[in-house]
Amino acid sequence: MNVASHTASSAGGAAPIIELVALNRTYRTEEVEVRAVRDVSLTIERGEFVAIMGASGSGKSTLMNVLGCLDRPTSGEYRLAGRNVAELERSELALLRNRKIGFVFQSFNLLARTSALENVELPLLYSVPLVPQRERRARATRTLESVGLAARMQHVPSRLSGGQQQRVAIARALVTAPELLLADEPTGNLDSRTSIDIMGLLQAQNDAGLTVVMVTHELDIAAYCKRIVVMRDGEIIRDEANAERRSAAAERAALDAAEQQARLA
Ligand code: ADP
Ligand code: MG
Repeated sequence: MNVASHTASSAGGAAPIIELVALNRTYRTEEVEVRAVRDVSLTIERGEFVAIMGASGSGKSTLMNVLGCLDRPTSGEYRLAGRNVAELERSELALLRNRKIGFVFQSFNLLARTSALENVELPLLYSVPLVPQRERRARATRTLESVGLAARMQHVPSRLSGGQQQRVAIARALVTAPELLLADEPTGNLDSRTSIDIMGLLQAQNDAGLTVVMVTHELDIAAYCKRIVVMRDGEIIRDEANAERRSAAAERAALDAAEQQARLA
């Protein structure tokens, strides 16, 4: 079975972007053993927009770290775009991660003394084949424009609002043109209106073909996703399509219209 599926995926790229089979991640310290992710099997196809929900400590971040190849499973299998990550050398894995995956974190993780533009250029420094400096600048500029930050590119993070910083972080994740965007509580530090804008940005990217997997503990935020996976004590306890998906663009337009009306009244 391994041989067959590997051949199929190298041939056509038709393999799911994510395939987890009986995956476990156990943390071992001297006193205790924490089974942070237990026996999780999950398939995510290209073009999906998945919310991972669950109480604090339910294993969401541990799962995301494995999905992002920042951490390896204790047992079980993770196939990223058809490649079993356990079979890859360190350098191959780093390359696959750089090519396929963009990350967004709750705390933005931007370099403080570095302009928005330079923050977004950064992942391109590690790209293979090498991206020339002029091309790095052009791509970072285009990506910042696409997230609505054309006028703020020279600012350092402390001169940007939380929502703008998260846009920079999203641009940094998108600049390598990944197939998969992983976001761990991307709206966790933002007010509700700014959260709508960030979800609008992610929905637009997803509409354009990007696969998005996002952790949130807020049901209102999960409601923008196409599929909702719920974890408890390291296990997936629910996995459902979201039939009544919210549209951030429509909500934003309604908010703007209401405000305009209030101004005229
Ligand atoms: P969530 O993101 O859903 O809040 P986490 O994945 O961070 O959950 O944590 C899941 C469980 O694993 C928790 O019990 C947490 O305390 C434990 N845990 C997380 N990281 C580590 C670590 N590096 N070492 C030991 N235990 C950890
Ligand atoms: Mg977490």
